[in-house]
Amino acid sequence: MSNTFQTYNLPSALLGALAKMQYDHPTAIQDQVIPVALTGQDILGSSKTGSGKTAAFSIPVVAQLMDRPEARVLVLAPTRELAEQVAGVMSSMIRGCSHLRTVLLIGGEPIGKQLMRLRTNPNIIVGTPGRVEDHLCRGSLHLQRTTFLVLDEIDRMLDMGFSIQIDKIIKRLPIERQTLMFSATLDRNIERLAGSYLRQPARINVEVSDDEPKNIEEESLYVPEAAKFQVLLEQLNQREGSIIVFVRTQIKADSISYQLQQANFKVCAIHGGLKQHQRKRVIKDFRNKHYTIIVATDVAARGLDIDHIKHVINYDFPQAAEDYTHRIGRTGRAGATGFALSMISSPQERRLWRIIHNDPVEKEVKRPFRQSTNFNRFRSRSFGRSVSG
Ligand code: ADP
Ligand code: MG
Repeated sequence: MSNTFQTYNLPSALLGALAKMQYDHPTAIQDQVIPVALTGQDILGSSKTGSGKTAAFSIPVVAQLMDRPEARVLVLAPTRELAEQVAGVMSSMIRGCSHLRTVLLIGGEPIGKQLMRLRTNPNIIVGTPGRVEDHLCRGSLHLQRTTFLVLDEIDRMLDMGFSIQIDKIIKRLPIERQTLMFSATLDRNIERLAGSYLRQPARINVEVSDDEPKNIEEESLYVPEAAKFQVLLEQLNQREGSIIVFVRTQIKADSISYQLQQANFKVCAIHGGLKQHQRKRVIKDFRNKHYTIIVATDVAARGLDIDHIKHVINYDFPQAAEDYTHRIGRTGRAGATGFALSMISSPQERRLWRIIHNDPVEKEVKRPFRQSTNFNRFRSRSFGRSVSG
């Protein structure tokens, strides 16, 4: 926490906006990206979820937009929620600058409103690849004068099958532009894309900082499938604070959420089957603590920026180690301790748990929460540790 945003020579309107947003010090990725991006160089950046990538690209882009009224930016993000989050952050940064306007181009929303907004010739265009391409095809969006391109969470956009759409969109952009590409991970695919979309990029990779380790206490319970719901009820009764419960399918998310509602919990479900306005509402109501429990599938929960989650419960154990990391990363934010409980109901799941925790040896059972069930004997093990990531 050494620097402040004053050191970057940003427009005073932007410094004022950052102060209002209570951004006092840049995060590590911001500190590395902002000065380089302000010189106009392309960037390939990576750092973990929650490290502040949105402002890392928004600050230098908005700073340049403030100085050059004819400049324009296109930001592509993988999901509607993420696009909304980015548009929200950028809107806060340009408050009071009447010559800057934003438009959000996402699916699941009436296109008419977007068409009207596009006619005002906005300088900041944020969207998902599907809807942006849709507007290009309709002729309602022109990108020939785009000066900045941001590809946020490019790894997820590839996972979601957007590579062809992204390619089509980028073909419509001028070659003379500044491109900022961000990913949570770097692999050969990303490198290949960087090779074709970026020009001599600065590579900025911020490792997990040691001074802010996440503190997440992880434990697992061996529970037969048929007993899971009963155990869930007991675990929920023992826990305070906001809780996210992960299940494998949309149907299960709905049914568990319904059963918990019948048991008088303040609960909602989020999954890919919800309409856009329903998802929005659910996230908003969970954020403002109208609900204490959210039942989620992996796809719906990724990238959600909700920072008050205290407990993660894996009702269904994830199928891949990577999903496990993403799930438990929902808690333990900003120095607070988080708790992650995994129900394990098969030898395969137990094996994956051990692989994830790099631990082949069965250990003594510890009891972080009081148990009232007779399923104690199924409890395989529990422990606390610090994880980063
Ligand atoms: P990422 O894209 O790397 O996952 P985000 O950009 O979503 O991370 O930021 C995570 C959280 O950190 C957000 O709630 C954001 O408001 C907050 N944040 C980002 N930068 C700062 C900062 N410099 N000061 C305070 N909070 C910040
Ligand atoms: Mg992000």
